[in-house]
Amino acid sequence: MEGNIAANLAAVSERVVAAARGAGRAPDSVTLVAVSKTHPATTVRHALMAGHRVFGENRVQEAEAKFPGLREEFPDLALHLIGPLQTNKVRDALSVCDVIESVDRPRLAQALAKEMDHSGRRPPCLIEVNTGEEAQKAGIPPAEADAFIVQCRDRLGLPIIGLMCVPPIDEEPALHFALLREIARRNELGILSMGMSADFEKAIRFGATHVRVGTAIFGARGQL
Ligand SMILES: *Cc1c(COP(=O)(O)O)cnc(C)c1O
Repeated sequence: MEGNIAANLAAVSERVVAAARGAGRAPDSVTLVAVSKTHPATTVRHALMAGHRVFGENRVQEAEAKFPGLREEFPDLALHLIGPLQTNKVRDALSVCDVIESVDRPRLAQALAKEMDHSGRRPPCLIEVNTGEEAQKAGIPPAEADAFIVQCRDRLGLPIIGLMCVPPIDEEPALHFALLREIARRNELGILSMGMSADFEKAIRFGATHVRVGTAIFGARGQL
C-alpha cells in the first residue's frame, strides 16, 4: 500500500506537470489536492511520508478524526474542505481546515463570516458553482454566481479567492470547466478548483489551478 501510494502520487504528479507544460503553463501553477476521504489516517500518512502535503476531505467530522494528529507530525500540511458544509459545523471546519472550497449558499456564507469575525481564523474560501444545475448537487447556480460572489466578497468580507465545480458525471466536462473559468475571469478570481481522477488533465488545459484527485492516488473507495 505504502509503495503504491508513493508511486501513484509520483505518476499523477508527472501527469499534472505534463498537462501544465502541454497547455503552455508553468508546472507549479497547478496544485494537486490529494482527496483522502474514506481512507484512514495511516493511508494519509503514507502520502505525507512520500512528501505530499495538500489534501482534500469532504466531511468535517472525518477531517477532525484524521487530521489533527497528522498535523502534529506534519505541521506544514494543508487541508481543503471540498464537500458540503452544514452551518452547525462551520466552527469545526474553520478550526480543522486551511481552505474551504465549498461555499455554496448565502446562509453558509453568513455563518462563515460571523464565525471568522468571532474566531479570527480566516482561511481562504472558494465558491462552489453547480455548473450542471443538478438538483441534487451542491453549488450556487451559474446565473446567481456573480451576485453571490459580490455578496460574499464585498458585503460579507469573506476571503474569496476562486471557484470550484464538480461537473455532472455523464457530461463532457470541458463545457463546465470553460463556464467556471469564464465566471472566474469576469469576477477577477484567480483560483480554479476543477478536475478529478478521470479528467484532471483536461481541467488543466482549461486553466485549473487546483485538481482534486482521489482514486488515482489512493485507489477505489469503499462505500460510505
Ligand atoms: C471525491 C471527490 C473528488 C475526487 O474524486 P476522484 O474521482 O476519486 O478523483 C474530487 N472532488 C470532490 C468534491 C469529491 O467529493
